[in-house]
Amino acid sequence: MSRFDPATRCIHCHAPLPLCYCALLPHIDSATPVTLIVHRNELLRSTATASTTRLCLAGSRILPYGQRDVALDPADLFAPPGRALYLFPEPDAEILDTAWVAANPGPWHLIVPDGSWGQAVRIRRRISALSRVQAVCLATPGPSRYELRTARAPGRLCTLEAVAHALGVLEGPAVRDGLLAALALQVERMKGSRPRFRQNDPEHESSLPHS
Ligand SMILES: [Zn+2]
Repeated sequence: MSRFDPATRCIHCHAPLPLCYCALLPHIDSATPVTLIVHRNELLRSTATASTTRLCLAGSRILPYGQRDVALDPADLFAPPGRALYLFPEPDAEILDTAWVAANPGPWHLIVPDGSWGQAVRIRRRISALSRVQAVCLATPGPSRYELRTARAPGRLCTLEAVAHALGVLEGPAVRDGLLAALALQVERMKGSRPRFRQNDPEHESSLPHS
């Protein structure tokens, strides 16, 4: 991963200091707590969206993953109240839509993996406590507005978009639209800040695929 220098980059949004957008982010209330399981390679990247999600979404948190000799504590993972849901297009995932919500009343606790496609696929396999959590995925995610990395397949969304659309189903359009506005702000600030963001960069693929 790129070297992170706190003298030149914001420790919260990770943007270069002149481009810091923390003060412009909305503050969004959510009745559904959100836990982001974030691969260590993503924790300090300015193009990553888990940090943006945490900065603007009340009740959200980041649990780092993939650090040597540091395992996730299931008691901590499931500490937030509500029925745990794992937001990822697993083979056994149920479509998260209004019919699902009608059949599965809340409260819920949304758990979201964040990393490259390969990293995200492995997270549920490697954290055994997640195997008993119901997986859900978005019905029709639509085109991604995340322009900082190149997705390898259509329908793959970044973490912030996936959370936005999932909470749009669980809580309504105001939460969704607030989160998408935060993403637009991040994209606007970071796009073009370095030339490679404008190029295809498979190594930095969209952080969370959803189909
Ligand atoms: Zn900042």
